[in-house]
Amino acid sequence: MVRETALYDELGVKPNADETELKKAYRKLALKYHPDKNPEAGDKFKKIAFAYEVLSDPKKRETYDRGGEQALKEGGGEGGFHNPMDIFDMFFGGGRGGGGRARERKGKDVIHQIKVSLEDLYNGHTRRLALQKNVICKKCEGRGGKKGATEQCKGCRGTGMKVRIQQIAPGFVQQSQSVCSDCEGQGEQIKAEDRCPECAGKKVTRDRKILEVHIDKGMKDGQKIMFTGEGDQEPGLEAGDVIIVLDEQPHETFARKGNDLVMRMNIQLVEALCGFQKIITTLDNRNLMVTSLPGQIINYGDTKLIVHEGMPIYRNPFEKGRLIIQFIVDFPEPKQLTPQRITQLEKILPDRTVEMIPDDAEEAILQEYHDNHGKNERSGGHHGHFAHMEDDDDDPRAGGPGAVQCGTQ
Ligand SMILES: [Zn+2]
Ligand SMILES: [Zn+2]
Repeated sequence: MVRETALYDELGVKPNADETELKKAYRKLALKYHPDKNPEAGDKFKKIAFAYEVLSDPKKRETYDRGGEQALKEGGGEGGFHNPMDIFDMFFGGGRGGGGRARERKGKDVIHQIKVSLEDLYNGHTRRLALQKNVICKKCEGRGGKKGATEQCKGCRGTGMKVRIQQIAPGFVQQSQSVCSDCEGQGEQIKAEDRCPECAGKKVTRDRKILEVHIDKGMKDGQKIMFTGEGDQEPGLEAGDVIIVLDEQPHETFARKGNDLVMRMNIQLVEALCGFQKIITTLDNRNLMVTSLPGQIINYGDTKLIVHEGMPIYRNPFEKGRLIIQFIVDFPEPKQLTPQRITQLEKILPDRTVEMIPDDAEEAILQEYHDNHGKNERSGGHHGHFAHMEDDDDDPRAGGPGAVQCGTQ
C-alpha cells in the first residue's frame, strides 16, 4: 500500500507504474520543463527530477511508499540526492563520460524528442528536422568585433560577476553576487562602435540547420540518435551535440513488447468452435491470413503466436520478433438465444455433468459484479492480463498468457 502519491502525481503515473512507464514520463516532462525551453516553469523541473530520482531507485521508492516524504527526509535518502541538472544529464547524457569538468569545455547539447509511429520503427524512416542553433559568427570569426577591440568590462572589472552591497537595516549590510549584466558574465566588452555588425558583438549568430534523422528498423522508444558536434557553438569551446530522442506513439492494433508485437483478436463463439479465417494487416501493409480449423477450439484468453511477424531486430533487421495474438471470444447476446435454440444447443453440445444437490443446500443469488475498488490487477483472470497488454516491460509478475517472454533477445 502506498502512503502518499505526490511524487507519482508529479510524473503523472499510477503508483504501480513500472520502470518503463517512469522513464517515459520523466523523459517527456523533463524535456518539456527544462529551464532552457520553459524558463517560466519555475520549480517544476526540479520537482520532476526529484520524483524521478526517488521512484527510479528501488530502495528510495520503497522508503517513500512506506513512509512518504517524511521517511525520505529521515535518512531514507541514502547516497543523497542529485541536483536536477545532473539527473537530466545522466538520463540524456550524450555518452561523454559525464564528468562535470569535461562538460564545461563543450557547448550546450540540444535535446529534441520526436514522435515516431510503430510503422516508422518497423519499416525504417528518414525524417528531416530543422533546428535553430548558435554558430560562431562568420564575419568576425567569433571575436565579436575588430581585432584588439575587446576590453575588460568596466562594470565587473573582468570578473563577470557584480557584487552589490545593500544596507538592509542601520548597521547591517547584505552582500549579493550576480552575473554582470553589462557583459553577460563574459568579463569583457567591445565598444559599441567596434562591434561586429553581423552578430552585434555576441560572437555567435542563430542559424537554421537541417538534420536528416535516420530511424533504423527496430529502434526503440527512448532510443537516442546522436549528432556529434551539431549542437550550439561557442567561441573557445567544442561544439555541443544534438541528441534526438525517439518517442514511440501507441498503435491502434499492435502493442510492442520488446521485439514482439501483441494484438487482440475478437472472434465469435461460432468461430471459436467451428474455425475461421482472418486477415491481419501488418505494419508494412501485407495481409496475413490466419486459419483456425473446425474443432480447433479457441478459448477466451487463448494466446497464439506467429513467428517472424514481430518487430525487426535493431541492427539485424532480417530477424524479427513474434506476433502474439490474444483471443477474445464474443459470446452471443441473450436475445439471440431463443428457448428453442437453447434446446437445440443442449442436444449438440457435450452432455452436462450432473451436479448432486444435497437436501440442505441453501439457495444463493448470483448478482452482477462491479469491480470498483480494491482491484487485484495482477490476478490471473482473463480481464486481468488483457488489461496489461500495453505494458511493454518484462515484468515477470504479469502471469497467465500475457506473460510474454522475449525469447529473441
Ligand atoms: Zn560577428
Ligand atoms: Zn561585466
